[in-house]
Amino acid sequence: MDLVSLVRASKYDKTTVRQALEKTLENLGGIEKFIRPGMKVALKANLVMKKKPEEAATTHPVFVGELARIIKNAGAEVLIIDSPGGPYTRSRLEDIYMGTGMKAVAEEIGAQLNFDTSEVEVENAEGKFIKRLKILKPLVEADLVINLPKLKTHGQMVYTGAVKNMFGAIAGISKVEYHFNMKEYDRFADTLIDIFLSTKPALSIMDAIIGMEGAGPTAGVPKEIGVILASESAFSLDMAALNIIDTDPKRVPLLKNSIERGLCPNSISKIKLIGEPIDSVKVKDFDVPALEGLKEIRFVENEFLKSLTGFILPKPVFLANKCIGCADCVRSCPPNAIEMKNKKPEVKLSKCIRCFCCQELCPAKAIVIKRNKVIDKLVKSAASAFMDIKGRIK
Ligand code: SF4
Ligand code: SF4
Repeated sequence: MDLVSLVRASKYDKTTVRQALEKTLENLGGIEKFIRPGMKVALKANLVMKKKPEEAATTHPVFVGELARIIKNAGAEVLIIDSPGGPYTRSRLEDIYMGTGMKAVAEEIGAQLNFDTSEVEVENAEGKFIKRLKILKPLVEADLVINLPKLKTHGQMVYTGAVKNMFGAIAGISKVEYHFNMKEYDRFADTLIDIFLSTKPALSIMDAIIGMEGAGPTAGVPKEIGVILASESAFSLDMAALNIIDTDPKRVPLLKNSIERGLCPNSISKIKLIGEPIDSVKVKDFDVPALEGLKEIRFVENEFLKSLTGFILPKPVFLANKCIGCADCVRSCPPNAIEMKNKKPEVKLSKCIRCFCCQELCPAKAIVIKRNKVIDKLVKSAASAFMDIKGRIK
């Protein structure tokens, strides 16, 4: 039975976080179980884009820093690493390390920041679709990888946590190709699982002190949760995290497919929880986007319904008053559906695959996902009455 540790931590104060992380490691068998002197340890944080720590889009620097301190004290070297969205270049990494607070903690603690943008091809025997892929070379070369996700909602995939965090093992804009080639949520979920399996982090420790609800993973609202979750199984960790935010894992494609593939227990009762009782850290009113109603229509096989999707699907809408004309959305759009016209983006909805990468990477929160409310309601009730989660007629 997988073990998941739950330790309370109410704020990003160094002592609070360090003590909670020490307790976390103790719950999982002690630091010596994972770290030996002389090891090179890669900390795979979530640094999706240049966002301030208080915006809760990225793993908090105090969280990363205090874990780095514990590992350094145990005699190992620490490398902080992620491949954010957009181009994967030294200058962009410098900017993101500075903006997310990683540069300051790395200097304080004597950890390294990764600037090696090379990739290496790896076999992925356990992958369902992806049997060979390129991932970041420093992750492959590390003696140990520790996955440091943030608990957040996700406009496309409902939730993003431990398993999805390893999507950052794919270099920069190559992520866009995965989005484009795996347009259906279900297939994309399997892709994310395959990528995770190729990276094999020894341990996942989740920053759920303050998570993100609503329009995650970058434009949502910070939400206090007050807990650190950790496990050697990222799948069981995600199952526990969803239980805390009161979300059925079967409504999250990544978890649903992980359960079907036998990678994740199908119930929280099949996980051994240690530390804080899970009911005492539950957040009942966490705002989680649904994967029902309009989104399911993407998978409808009926041609007439399909022809209506351009009209009824949720769509990205660009807010001209907030847009700073940076064109990051153009560069992040897998099917090249966005063009800059007079320094403002315009989207061709017939090409749009509704991946919402543009919304995820817009630095100005100038993209919102709009739904036709009346149709959303109608489709939602029709979907629950007649369709399964993939939109197939029951
Ligand atoms: S919508 Fe956002 S990402 Fe696109 S150009 Fe405007 S500010 Fe940049
Ligand atoms: S316009 Fe936005 S949602 Fe549509 S395909 Fe491009 S990035 Fe994805």
